[in-house]
Amino acid sequence: MKPDVVIIGAGTGGLIAALKMAREGLDVLVMEKSSEDHYGNTWMNDLDLHPFEKYDLPKPLPEELAFPIDRNIRANANGVEGGVIIGNIPNYALKMSLYQKRLVSLCREAGVQFVFNSRATGFLEDGKAVTGILVEDGGVSKDIPARMVVVACGAFAPILKKIPEFCDFDFHFRPDDAVHAIQELWKINPGPAREMVSQGSLTPNEMVFFMGVPGAGPFSTFMYQLDLDQEVVALLAGCKPQNPGVLSPRELIDDFKDNSLGFCTEKIYGGGRAIPMRQSLDNLVDNGIAILGDAAFMASPANGSGTTPSMVAGAQCAWTVAKVLNAGLKPTRKALWGYNVAFQTGLGATFAGYYVAHRIFTTFSEQEVQNLIRHKLIDPRQFKNVHDAKPFGVDPLQGLGLFMKALPVMGALIGFVKHGAKIPIITRHYRNFPGEYDPETFTLWRQRTNKILKRLDVS
Ligand SMILES: Cc1cc2nc3c(=O)[nH]c(=O)nc-3n(C[C@H](O)[C@H](O)[C@H](O)COP(=O)(O)OP(=O)(O)OC[C@H]3O[C@@H](n4cnc5c(N)ncnc54)[C@H](O)[C@@H]3O)c2cc1C
Repeated sequence: MKPDVVIIGAGTGGLIAALKMAREGLDVLVMEKSSEDHYGNTWMNDLDLHPFEKYDLPKPLPEELAFPIDRNIRANANGVEGGVIIGNIPNYALKMSLYQKRLVSLCREAGVQFVFNSRATGFLEDGKAVTGILVEDGGVSKDIPARMVVVACGAFAPILKKIPEFCDFDFHFRPDDAVHAIQELWKINPGPAREMVSQGSLTPNEMVFFMGVPGAGPFSTFMYQLDLDQEVVALLAGCKPQNPGVLSPRELIDDFKDNSLGFCTEKIYGGGRAIPMRQSLDNLVDNGIAILGDAAFMASPANGSGTTPSMVAGAQCAWTVAKVLNAGLKPTRKALWGYNVAFQTGLGATFAGYYVAHRIFTTFSEQEVQNLIRHKLIDPRQFKNVHDAKPFGVDPLQGLGLFMKALPVMGALIGFVKHGAKIPIITRHYRNFPGEYDPETFTLWRQRTNKILKRLDVS
């Protein structure tokens, strides 16, 4: 039987879309290229809790979490005592593959069909609308017609290049808009770890971030979380290794693990890849097709968090698609526009603002980023906003305060205050995303986006 919706990819975004659509009565088929045994992201993700209530997302089970929910975040830099503490931010430290496998079970209970080991290789179309996909299953090519297709295949998947040309998705990407990240969980030898804690060289039970890691570029992060009760340490490194001479996340993790800690005994979880850190696609729908998650650049350009955004978009997409298909309507760009509006006026707006901040940060030197921490110029409230995916900007009064505190690091601050104060302009513009689809209005809105980004030196 022809399904209502075929979804490419069983990541968190595709799975939430599938679950919500099936609960709305649609026939949903998910195609996943990996095998069921070896599928799911192998790293941990830190997620804020709010979207779970707001979008009624399945809450993690205790065994899917690597750490307790309430921990401090500490922003630190090389050679800086103490750092900036962002107190008690509730966080799900989620073991992704376990959670994803449970989502698959919930989807099956709701009636979703899965085909693992099946790679989408192309799209069926009639010149104006997408009408299904082509898949390769055990070396055999098959047509899968469907009323519509949802693309949730993650970033940089080859299938994205096969999206028909009439679809108005702007995948324009600068190579340095990606961050490469690795996250690992290690068992430890607790004796030496306790000793380092008592000497004050490690802080336990917090997410301790280092920014502007020496040798790894200004937009680099290293994080450790040490849990002496469970006798584990989590390590995360993210940087832009495509910049010449910059250390890779692998080198950062190995160096810290072997030379600064020396007590890690066995890796129990971990993995990594490139994360897109650009503003999200400014259009997410076309005739017979919708796109979400990392495939639509929905990871936060401030910190690379893309799991809850993919799930939020999955829910928003599902509600619009169910409304359209259950009413017997054709899933045209115009009919599906509601999903676009819901995302762009919320997370899309916030992430467009973050992208401006991201570009500003990449112009700083490592030293300047370290100085921002050393002089406590990073405001904990802004950190909290980023964690909660809420908008931020530097208001003029705050900017003046920063100037006064920042006399020793004026060079870096001038750019941040000058451009940071303008972040709300792009955020506001996205909040005014056209409420209905009309080609002329959307073209004007897009032209204005490009103008604003150009003025902010970000285009
Ligand atoms: C090391 C690291 C740490 C991270 N930490 C965090 C964090 O702390 N918090 C956070 O929120 N985010 C974090 N992220 C980002 C987060 O993991 C992603 O944003 C999120 O997983 C995106 O989900 P998705 O559903 O869009 O895509 P994915 O999880 O990439 O899922 C896409 C699925 O599509 C499948 N697929 C691809 N092509 C095809 C095809 N042609 N046919 C069929 N199937 C296909 C893939 O096999 C995959 O299963 C981190 C990322 C990394 C690398």
